[in-house]
Amino acid sequence: MADAVAQRDGCALVTGASRGIGAAIARGLAQDGWPIGVNYRSDRDGAEAVVAEIERDGGRAVALAADVADPDAPERLFGALESQFGGPVLVLVNNAGINRDDLLATLGDEEWSAVLDTDLTAAFRLTRRALKRMLRERAGRIVNISSIVGLRANGGQANYAAAKAGLIALTKTAAVEVARRGVTVNAVAPGLIDTEMVSGLSKDLVAAVPARRAGTPQEVAACVRFLASDEASYVTGAVLTVDGGLAA
Ligand code: NDP
Repeated sequence: MADAVAQRDGCALVTGASRGIGAAIARGLAQDGWPIGVNYRSDRDGAEAVVAEIERDGGRAVALAADVADPDAPERLFGALESQFGGPVLVLVNNAGINRDDLLATLGDEEWSAVLDTDLTAAFRLTRRALKRMLRERAGRIVNISSIVGLRANGGQANYAAAKAGLIALTKTAAVEVARRGVTVNAVAPGLIDTEMVSGLSKDLVAAVPARRAGTPQEVAACVRFLASDEASYVTGAVLTVDGGLAA
């Protein structure tokens, strides 16, 4: 086992952390000393593997099953974390996300609602729950994982784009409401990142990226770690693109 990491007071919740970008963020924040809630919906083995890896490296983590689109999820997740680690959630990363792509002319109500519920409404409810305690503590970091699709059009993703653009508007509004109380709220907007969500990346898509490659989950996690750090205390309401220049 590696040397124990110096642990922070309070803890961090990363939603959708059983794989991909969320798993990289959970591992990164654990390296920065945060005890981590590794949330997942169905991929229990993935979440437990992330917890085991964090513990092997001297950190603390717990796997927490919850569908973030469930209105009761925030209370269950925050309650479980506060009792497990005995401190408030001081970092919230709204990362869980899904896509259900279709052209607008045929996009179904169900595909619209599922994406809005998971990618936007869940972040609203989790943020509301997190702020209760962060405002009292006069400390906190909220990082929302949006997408460059929330900034510029991508045909076939009207539901996803609306959710991710909404997440940016939510981020900015929350940031100005809580800035006086030492809480920051920022968004990270990844471009093309090599995860299951975009499995089978076409060569054409990669060729459109100025960096000529997809990004890694670790490259997104590095931005989140900065925004969650003490060093980022004057950064709030920002949208940090991490996209190899795709949206430039
Ligand atoms: P993946 O599909 O690889 O992973 C998604 C994660 O979210 C899984 O851990 C999944 O867990 C979890 N999840 C999905 N729905 C729910 C839910 N309702 N409740 C709780 N957990 C849930 O996605 P990525 O890692 O690629 O994406 C992570 C975030 O980054 C998303 O918000 C995505 O929109 C965003 N993003 C990704 C980009 C990319 O190119 N990959 C680009 C721009 C943004 P389980 O399997 O257990 O359901």
